[in-house]
Amino acid sequence: MPEGDSVWKAARRMREQLVGRTVVRSDFRVPQHATADLSGREITAFDSCGKHMLTRFSGGLTLHTHFEMDGAWQVVGQGKVLPRSFDDEVRLVLSTDGPTAYALRMPVLELVETAREDEVVGHLGPDLLGPSWDEDLAVERLLREPDRPVVEALLDQRNLAGIGNLWAVETCYLRGHSPWTPVRAVDLHATVQLTRRMMRHSLEHPGQVTTGDTRRGRTHWVYGRAERPCRRCGTPVQFRDSVTGTPYSRETWWCPRCQPGPFPSLSERPTRPGSRRGVNEESFGSRTTRLSGRAGYAR
Ligand SMILES: [Zn+2]
Repeated sequence: MPEGDSVWKAARRMREQLVGRTVVRSDFRVPQHATADLSGREITAFDSCGKHMLTRFSGGLTLHTHFEMDGAWQVVGQGKVLPRSFDDEVRLVLSTDGPTAYALRMPVLELVETAREDEVVGHLGPDLLGPSWDEDLAVERLLREPDRPVVEALLDQRNLAGIGNLWAVETCYLRGHSPWTPVRAVDLHATVQLTRRMMRHSLEHPGQVTTGDTRRGRTHWVYGRAERPCRRCGTPVQFRDSVTGTPYSRETWWCPRCQPGPFPSLSERPTRPGSRRGVNEESFGSRTTRLSGRAGYAR
């Protein structure tokens, strides 16, 4: 699943290849913009904002995209096209006087006036990877609901923008807190500083590594490691599935020994061995329909 750092890196890549180019032809394959035409406009910016991407065009138009679980941009060189096997996945073709960009499987794809971008990203808290990151404001927002489990509060993009499940889960492990520790009991400054440090490191390095070990299967402490021994203490890593219908409830992994604190109530007990085991380290991010309960979910 693309997290803020992945979107940031995608924006950097797109910027390098497409800013300054003029759109020759645009082909929207989403109903609400079927007749939109961007031809003649220059691409002036690709910016990430949390997990959102803003592509700006001359004439004051912005394309807002959100990858959610599975969206992606693909760029091919001038004169080339994406293989036809991708046809079903294409939501937008942006042909320029240079490369051609394809938005694939993008669940959110909408045009807004650049002056009104706030309507699509104004709800977001400070962007961990943005130029105007504001740690104090992020902490203030996290504390608005002091009893809320820290893992959920970190995932709520209205508090701070860019954190996905991987960073939230690994941050809780590294700070030694059960994911269900209320935010009031957590050193939030140290917590968000750690998350931001890891995410910024990720911008300049491949993969999303929290252990410092880039070898396959060694990149994370607990994320995707249900029932495997904790790398520090050997206790089996616990797993709990997301709770359907609950905003910000995600699959969660934790070490009960290294992360003392409250655990889910009896009805929300971790999945037991023999039933679902959670994703494997090797397969995370490959599934497409994890979230069934989206009520109140602010992207
Ligand atoms: Zn442990």
